[in-house]
Amino acid sequence: MTPAREALARLRAGNQRYVTGAFDRAGQVGQARREELLGGQRPFAIILGCSDSRVPVEIIFDQGLGDLFVVRVAGNVAAPAQTGSIELAVQHCGARLVVVLGHTRCGAVQAAFDALDRPQEPLSPGLREIVDRIDPLLTGLLATDLRYDQEALLHEAMLANVRATTDRLRQDSAIIAHAIQRDGLLVVGAAYSLATGVVDFFDGVPSDA
Ligand SMILES: [Zn+2]
Repeated sequence: MTPAREALARLRAGNQRYVTGAFDRAGQVGQARREELLGGQRPFAIILGCSDSRVPVEIIFDQGLGDLFVVRVAGNVAAPAQTGSIELAVQHCGARLVVVLGHTRCGAVQAAFDALDRPQEPLSPGLREIVDRIDPLLTGLLATDLRYDQEALLHEAMLANVRATTDRLRQDSAIIAHAIQRDGLLVVGAAYSLATGVVDFFDGVPSDA
């Protein structure tokens, strides 16, 4: 099993290869790799990312088959099914790093703003599941000067949503809390820039990692 700090270093190196274009996909997705994985999976990291088509997790970290256990949902929120998926991977796949990955210009964060702006417009129960997890974070930001700068507001809201999700995973899941205590599991928050391709790990990263 890959220790959390080593997993983080692998993700950083993979993102660097992606950004600089220095990647070689041949060994990651071929028949040999498929056969290697028939016996089981040992992904080295678990990623909770947004469904946005511009943030394909394996590509932006330059990883292949069997490397990452990926959960994607609009707005990278941790509703029960997402938390359960992560718990499954923590218990059965042995990964010791969980990354919550937000991104710039997130449509789900924008949708949460829109829902606050236009409360009279009904939302489906499915959309409510997502928006209700983001809206409470926005109220505080809207009370600051950020409300005059739409782009900065959206960016801060995305960062706040990542932090809230990492906190929720650490606190609300007994399985994750136990793995943090016993196995050195790390839950960190990161943000992907659509413009540069760079992933910034900004939350919960130990100073020596
Ligand atoms: Zn998004």
